[in-house]
Formats: sequence, C-alpha cells, structure tokens
Amino acid sequence: MDSSPPTLVSRRTLSLRFNLPISKTHEFWDGLREGKFVTTKCKDCGEVTFPPQADCPKCMGSNIGWVDMGTDAELLTFTYVMVTPTSFVQSDPYVVAIGRLGQGLKVLAWVEGASVEALSPGARLKLEARKTPEGSPYYVFVPAA
Ligand SMILES: [Zn+2]
Repeated sequence: MDSSPPTLVSRRTLSLRFNLPISKTHEFWDGLREGKFVTTKCKDCGEVTFPPQADCPKCMGSNIGWVDMGTDAELLTFTYVMVTPTSFVQSDPYVVAIGRLGQGLKVLAWVEGASVEALSPGARLKLEARKTPEGSPYYVFVPAA
C-alpha cells in the first residue's frame, strides 16, 4: 500500500518576480548601465571575484574595492539550449557560454551574434552590456572582432 500523502497536481503557470538586494554590489550594475564592467577586489588579500561579492570569499574580510574586469574573454565551454526552460519559452534556442577573462575570472553569459557551429573552445569573445526593454542591464558575449 502506498504510504505517501495524497496530492493534487496543479497545471497553473507560476510567474515569479525577484527583488535582489544589491546595496553592496550596485557599482557593478551602475557600471553595466554605462557599458562598463567592474567587479570586487579584496583590499586585504587581493582576491578578485565575479560575480561581485559583498565580502571576500577567501579571507572573509569586508574591506572590498572595485576594479575594472575588462571585456576580452576566451571561450572555455558552451551549451546550445534547444529546449528552453519555462522562463525563456519566448526565446529562440540560444547558446550559454563560460568565458575566462583576464585575472582568471569566469563569466557565464548568453552568446549573441554567433551560430553554435561557429563556436569552439579557445575562441575569442567580448563581453557587451545590454538592457532589457524594461531598462534592466544585463550582459552577453559576442564574438571578438
Ligand atoms: Zn580577502
């Protein structure tokens, strides 16, 4: 006999809206609005982190400064998403990549302007700032010119 509690299955689509606190990392988003890429660097131990961190993950200190992170990247790996998750059901299939910037930072972002066939590990990419129709900043990789 099945001992699991009885359940109902709902077929409603949920729409979630998140408000993410960015009081200690807003410099990144402010910079991105202007097309600049900055990230956090620990003033005590020198650890550079991305995404920006309010506290240092290496020494746990809170003495954090900001540095330019550059936009030139090397493609490390990527995947072609043909079956999109519910939140991207309006999107065409897309490529998500991990690129390594200077200072060893690894960044995850969609790739625009390149077919999946044209991509291979080691390819040169560039980070570019974008804005949603609502004005929220985000970033993508594009092939380096
Ligand atoms: Zn540190």
